[in-house]
Amino acid sequence: MAITDKIYVKNHQQLVSQLETSFPKGAFKGATLDILFQGEGLAKLDDASRERVLDFAEDFMDCDCQAAPHCGCPERKFVAYLLELREQGLGPDAIVDVMSDDYMLYAYPGDVLSFLDDSVRTLEAVETLADVDGNREVAEEVQRRRNRLV
Ligand SMILES: [Zn+2]
Repeated sequence: MAITDKIYVKNHQQLVSQLETSFPKGAFKGATLDILFQGEGLAKLDDASRERVLDFAEDFMDCDCQAAPHCGCPERKFVAYLLELREQGLGPDAIVDVMSDDYMLYAYPGDVLSFLDDSVRTLEAVETLADVDGNREVAEEVQRRRNRLV
């Protein structure tokens, strides 16, 4: 399962009752993207929630794909956001705190930790492949990225 399948909406029950429409707890479930983040119900949300919902939509759902928001861009952008927080030196608990402040989302720190471990392993694999191919430039760039994550 991708990390984006393990990102949840905080105050879910509260938001469901404000919107008077049910949607799943998973932030990247299709129906959540449609109902909460792209829905008509924004005006029904309290100010603090509306602001964070709008921030999420602006930051992760701003592509022009025909299939948006079901095009994969929101997930890709969110993964980049998580890696950026890691590169700033944050650990899993702090990353969860920041996503909760920024977007009213949460995840289990253990899931974030495995995601970060997987990302480092993926970069290691890419680095090895680039090395094998004699592509020194790519290998070095990947190594730089990896070093920022660990
Ligand atoms: Zn897109």
